[in-house]
Amino acid sequence: MKISMIGTGYVGLVTGSCIASKDVKVRFMDINQKKIADLEKGIIPIYEPGLDEIVLSNIKNGYCDFTTKMRDAYENDIIFLAVGTPQDVDGSADLEQVLSVAHDIGVYSEAENLTVIVKSTVPPGTCELVKEEILQQFKYRKREGFHLNVVSNPEFLKEGSAIKDFKYPDRIVVGVDNDNAEKVMREIYKDFDKILVMDVKSSELTKYASNAMLATRISFMNELANLCDVVGGNIELIKKGMGMDKRIGSHFLNAGTGYGGSCFPKDVKALINLGENNDSRLTILESVDESNDEQKLILVEKLTQNYYVKPMNIAIWGLSFKANTDDMREASSIKIIKDLLNLGATVRVYDPVANENAKEFLPPSDNLIYEEHKYNALIDADCLFLVTEWDEFKYNNLDFDYMKCIMRKFKIYDGRNLYNKNNILNQGFSYEGIGNNNI
Ligand code: NAD
Repeated sequence: MKISMIGTGYVGLVTGSCIASKDVKVRFMDINQKKIADLEKGIIPIYEPGLDEIVLSNIKNGYCDFTTKMRDAYENDIIFLAVGTPQDVDGSADLEQVLSVAHDIGVYSEAENLTVIVKSTVPPGTCELVKEEILQQFKYRKREGFHLNVVSNPEFLKEGSAIKDFKYPDRIVVGVDNDNAEKVMREIYKDFDKILVMDVKSSELTKYASNAMLATRISFMNELANLCDVVGGNIELIKKGMGMDKRIGSHFLNAGTGYGGSCFPKDVKALINLGENNDSRLTILESVDESNDEQKLILVEKLTQNYYVKPMNIAIWGLSFKANTDDMREASSIKIIKDLLNLGATVRVYDPVANENAKEFLPPSDNLIYEEHKYNALIDADCLFLVTEWDEFKYNNLDFDYMKCIMRKFKIYDGRNLYNKNNILNQGFSYEGIGNNNI
């Protein structure tokens, strides 16, 4: 089997590489020439644990190649579409990249039995639009005697554990409108047993519904945590108590500085927009979105309740939107740092892998200093903001005596509830977390 992966970003590169490691030949295509040139040299454009080994082994074994040429990219019978669907100005999903690929497939494909698989997160009805665009181009070319499937196959990987998520998926959702399409998809995923086949629109919506539910859980816990800080109770204990209820489950109940990343914020907004445009408002999600925006500044609010920020040196540990990724899209750190700079603080930041990416998302400023080591960020700091829960920031990996030697004041604001308050107090620091302050 030979497949093409159009869009060699997070989803395309991970999915295509995992498929290629199962002895399938995968041709990766991207319009980003540097990305493709780097990959040809074995340079991996994203940080994702385990991905480099798989890509390098696929290259060595001849199971993948990379191109920017459309004619080469569109010669296979099976084409995965994994391009971006960023947020448009009105909050809707911008389908420009998706439809541009559909156009190119229509212009270049000669396949008699063509299956186009839409991995990108797209609103219901998009696969239909992709099909129409391809057929339109085929019509201009007077192509006849072909069979075309357009399948929805949304991706559920989590950045930071994407390889594991591909190998051991909770489910593989496949939206088809005919038996032949289902047969092709079952062949591609023949090593997996959790294939859930449904109609195309349900499949497209399942992805949005899943992300929206997870985002809702996070915002719900954030608001409960904020309530705890006012009326008493500890969100970490409440989380345990809730999570042990099988009907609720323990995942995605962490209070913090709000969700970020390339998916939840834009997918929640896209679903809200879809509801608005179809006279079927999703008021719960509107609140989730608003609540999340406010939550991103919770640490700054806690600080400014007691201190003037202007003369302060503030250390930030963690920039990426979560641990084990260098993805900065919609990361809480962006809002936090911008706000602190506006308030007149000097901010020293450190992230194990996202420092470079962060520079694209943050304004250049003499008061914003990127450090290469976590302790350098603490030099003369009046407080530490823990923003991303990287392993190296965990309690057992810290030298508190050394931290006290280099910090000006001993205050920790924990945006991930990574620490136990008592432990931090015992080390001679003050502590403020999110809803876990009552002990
Ligand atoms: P990304 O921005 O990392 O990658 C998209 C790639 O597509 C880029 O490299 C871009 O250059 C390329 N591209 C754009 N137009 C192209 C064209 N016409 N031809 C070829 N390549 C083109 O995006 P991503 O994070 O991989 O997300 C892709 C899709 O998957 C989105 O719809 C996203 O919502 C969804 N998704 C993302 C994740 C995630 O964790 N990142 C998880 C599940 C689903």
